[in-house]
This record gives sequence, structure tokens and C-alpha cells, in this order.
Amino acid sequence: MKTPKELKFKQCPFGCDCDYELVKEDQKFTSNGNVYQGKRWVYKCPECKKQFTTTESDTISMQNLKNKKL
Ligand SMILES: [Zn+2]
Repeated sequence: MKTPKELKFKQCPFGCDCDYELVKEDQKFTSNGNVYQGKRWVYKCPECKKQFTTTESDTISMQNLKNKKL
């Protein structure tokens, strides 16, 4: 599984004085009406626990999951 590029900003976008982490999470998520389950790249703040993804990280996650459609 490829690793998404580091983003230009490193700090939590939700206002914490804290840097986010890039982690792989087991998730079920929907894309184009299909439900997928598997490892997904997410950027996660260790303080507020909020997470977000980018188009790039989702593209990599989707490539990894293309055979795991539920
Ligand atoms: Zn935060």
C-alpha cells in the first residue's frame, strides 16, 4: 500500500495545538454508492480524535480496496 504525501499543513485543522498523524484504519465507507471495508488512510488528530481524508489518500485507499466491494 502506497503512502499518501505529507500535507502542506501539519497541524490539526480542527483548531487543536497539535499535529495530526497519518494512520491506517479499518473502516467501512461508501464511494460512488458502493460500500467498501478495509484499511483506509486517514489523517487523525491525537487530541480531538477527529479524522479527515484527502482525494489523494482516498484514491490510494480505493486502489487497495477495489476487490473488497461488499
Ligand atoms: Zn484536533
